[in-house]
Amino acid sequence: MNFQKTIRKAISFKGIGLHSGAAVEIVLKPAPADHGIIFVRIDASQKVLIPALNRYVVETTLSTTLGKKGVTIQTIEHLMAALWGLDIDNVEVEVCGPEIPILDGSSEPFVEKIKKAGIQELDQLKKVFVITKPVAIVEGDRYCYLLSSRTPKVTCSIEFAHPYIQKQKFEMKLDPKNFTQEIARARTFGFVKDLELLKQKGLIRGGSLDCAIVLDEKNILNKEGLRFKDEFVRHKILDSIGDMALFGMKILGHFVTHKAGHELHTKLVRKVLRGDYGYMIGEKAFEKTQQDRMSLQTSLFQPASV
Ligand SMILES: [Zn+2]
Repeated sequence: MNFQKTIRKAISFKGIGLHSGAAVEIVLKPAPADHGIIFVRIDASQKVLIPALNRYVVETTLSTTLGKKGVTIQTIEHLMAALWGLDIDNVEVEVCGPEIPILDGSSEPFVEKIKKAGIQELDQLKKVFVITKPVAIVEGDRYCYLLSSRTPKVTCSIEFAHPYIQKQKFEMKLDPKNFTQEIARARTFGFVKDLELLKQKGLIRGGSLDCAIVLDEKNILNKEGLRFKDEFVRHKILDSIGDMALFGMKILGHFVTHKAGHELHTKLVRKVLRGDYGYMIGEKAFEKTQQDRMSLQTSLFQPASV
């Protein structure tokens, strides 16, 4: 039996938003079963609740942004990856600012503090969506897809014409132990040649060597070097987990990505929510009827009121 989980006590994080450059504080609070992950923007003129669901995604350029009623929260993916990676279903996230703090550019600071606070099992069964039919998003040579699988798995490959990256591929069974050991520490990365243009676009205003791996033409500028030889592909897995988490429940399937990013991940999740690619097991652990599946999808997928 797999029960829903939350955190044992409230924990907070302070830092800078990678893109906005804003100083931000967030507080994660325990939440009851079937609450889900809900962001609450508390510095807006009135509190705005934004559930961490795919239908509230409003932007996917370099990070994933959720929005509702004109209020947005940027760069949610590393926190979402930490929560999904640690198998946590229910948390309220109070956010005082426009963006989740980037911290060291990975999910590790979130994972460490969550583990220290403790994880609480609740008395309701976890909801899981079981993939039964393959589903894919393909755009040129980039793609991502979900296949049916008896265990949750992820495979990711990337290609960059840089001596430190080139072709990298990583595959693993997705469970909290593997996520913590293999993925959570992998940092985001960027190229010096792109920095000026991104800054002009109002992005990466909070970027520095403290929160990202930065690469010039041939080298890595960070004195401390890499945390893993293939840290880049591991971070892409981290990002993909953060975006898949916006499905709203666990997915039992094999997630495969190649040169993908937030936009493709988001499109794939949306396609699964809209189509007929599997079924949900949950509260009573029985296979939902077609009718139940349809109403589940309708309730999870409503146009964002932004
Ligand atoms: Zn990332």
